[in-house]
Amino acid sequence: MPSFSGMVLSSLALLLGIAVAPASIKAQTLPLDESLTSLLSPEGQQLLQESEAQTDYVPLASQFVTQQNQAFCGIASTVMILNALGIPAPEAPEWERQYFTQENIFNPATEAVIERSLIERQGLTLAELAGIISSYPVTVEVLYGAEVTLDEFRQAIATNLAEGDNFVVVNYLRRAIGQETGGHISPIAAYDADTDRFLILDVSRYKYPPVWVEAEALWQATDTIDSVSERSRGVVLVSALE
Ligand code: CA
Repeated sequence: MPSFSGMVLSSLALLLGIAVAPASIKAQTLPLDESLTSLLSPEGQQLLQESEAQTDYVPLASQFVTQQNQAFCGIASTVMILNALGIPAPEAPEWERQYFTQENIFNPATEAVIERSLIERQGLTLAELAGIISSYPVTVEVLYGAEVTLDEFRQAIATNLAEGDNFVVVNYLRRAIGQETGGHISPIAAYDADTDRFLILDVSRYKYPPVWVEAEALWQATDTIDSVSERSRGVVLVSALE
């Protein structure tokens, strides 16, 4: 219930026609490192409004999902990308519609890349993520963090974020950007050149809000070794077939 003084102030503002600045949106997520900016903060929303590369934001935001279990960050990200691209989808029996879900995305082709039961235990490596995505009719390009410079990393992603019909998924080490804790996968939705930051639409929505992260920090978080693949993490660039 609002306090009496709060009610008086908002009533007064209403009477006088004064715009009341929106407060930060409350979320039941973990606190953020000071190097990260939540999209839910006024500052984070302003970064989005002023961002130079945000073509991908609306199609991704309209398909934003929460990962279904703790190992399905790559699966949830893939579902978002495929639905955003409008790739022909299998039937989702619960809705009697053709639409990708974290259940119907699996088929013999994805099982040949990696079995679902194994994903549920250990998640996806960058190569497995690319393999799952490219089992559908799209083209993928994989950039390993250890094999690109910061400039190449920034350029490839920012260019994609300004173009339609293609998307970026990043595989990074959370603790390298000040989050808890291990390897993670989520789509990137925008780039702000003035602050040199990328916006990650984090699919573990129960844990963190979407955050703006410095390009250099994200690049370094991809230049970390995944113990399963013994290779670095990185990004997958996904395009619709021409
Ligand atoms: Ca794009």
